[in-house]
Amino acid sequence: MRVDLLIRNIGELVTFKEGPLRRVDKDSAGIIHNAAVAVKDSKIVWIGSDSDADRYEASLIINAEGRIVTPGLIDTHTHLIFAGDRSHELWMKLEGRTYSEILEAGGGIYYTVEETRKAPLEDLVGDALRVLDKMLDHGTTVVEVKTGYGLLYEHEAKLIDAILELKKRAQQTVIGTLLAHVIPREYKEKRSEYVDCFTRRLVPLAAEKKLEFVDVFCDKGAFTVEETKKIISWGIRNGLKTRLHSDELANIGCSRLALEYEIYSIDHLEYLPESIIPGLAMTRTVATLLPTSMLSVFADKKPPVKQLRKNGVYLGVATDYNPNNMNPILQTTLDLAVYLLGLTPLEALAAATVNAAWSLDLYPDHGTIREGAYADILIWDYEKLSQLSYIWGYDRLLTVITKGNIIRNAL
Ligand SMILES: [Zn+2]
Repeated sequence: MRVDLLIRNIGELVTFKEGPLRRVDKDSAGIIHNAAVAVKDSKIVWIGSDSDADRYEASLIINAEGRIVTPGLIDTHTHLIFAGDRSHELWMKLEGRTYSEILEAGGGIYYTVEETRKAPLEDLVGDALRVLDKMLDHGTTVVEVKTGYGLLYEHEAKLIDAILELKKRAQQTVIGTLLAHVIPREYKEKRSEYVDCFTRRLVPLAAEKKLEFVDVFCDKGAFTVEETKKIISWGIRNGLKTRLHSDELANIGCSRLALEYEIYSIDHLEYLPESIIPGLAMTRTVATLLPTSMLSVFADKKPPVKQLRKNGVYLGVATDYNPNNMNPILQTTLDLAVYLLGLTPLEALAAATVNAAWSLDLYPDHGTIREGAYADILIWDYEKLSQLSYIWGYDRLLTVITKGNIIRNAL
């Protein structure tokens, strides 16, 4: 059979072909030794033992030279579309200024909102595409992108259009989310009016323009649980799927919503109450950890990883790339999930591949190496699996492939 690409001589192929994992170990990861993968028309058409690969004729053969091959990385949480530079805020944070002091000094989210509203669509899209290229070059083959720095209808509508442009123009797969971020200053005294406007105008617009998700920053100082319920139930009625920012600053009861509604992911979770964890393990919800974001805000509390693992809650890891956390490289985030939060390297990898695909409702098309899935494939400069995140701190990829396109290849 003729194929476009054949990757041969793979030392260990991590397929995650059994699906999203509540417990990740070498047995559940679907590892094939001395493997090969065949790709045709952007999809994987065959995986198996290298000794069976001779029957394929390929336009291009890559010899993996015994290295590790995994699915492409999936970043399920980014605020990629914004304008304005907030680099001086790092210095303010280091001087011990609090977030509300930074806001009062004219910084923080409202600064980004002002700059983003002023920026032309094409500039926002151009900047975001440059970051997406950087992400892809470092192995991120699927990226979720949120709105959320426009707040008012016309500005959020512009950000929805920016996401549509990214979907068309980015080399990797882009998933779009309408985010209820904070109450805009214009509506400070009339919160419920804003929530009404968001649900009745923005949610249907996002659905009509075929964004996939609605997300709410449900936390102290952002949206209340009641407001969140209104937004997500309206979202579900309009055919949008739901994800939530939850328990980052305080436990206000937000994560409980995952027991009431179908919520694909709850993200942050520093203040996740342990009492809810057994219930969470009965849902499809992924608990997504954002270790780089924790570092950027100098958070002193960690999510309850041991309890999540013990109860078998799906774990995810994402960058939370945003103007207050400017690391777009998921490889780094995975290493920090290991060294800061105690995930095993294989757990971290599953969290940003198969479980991440599950959280974006993309499994089995992405996040796994199996027949029929998109050919999002990475070849790592590791000789054995135990070196994952053991060798760290730099880009360890030799080859990046997305939807069958070879983005780079050093073999
Ligand atoms: Zn976020």
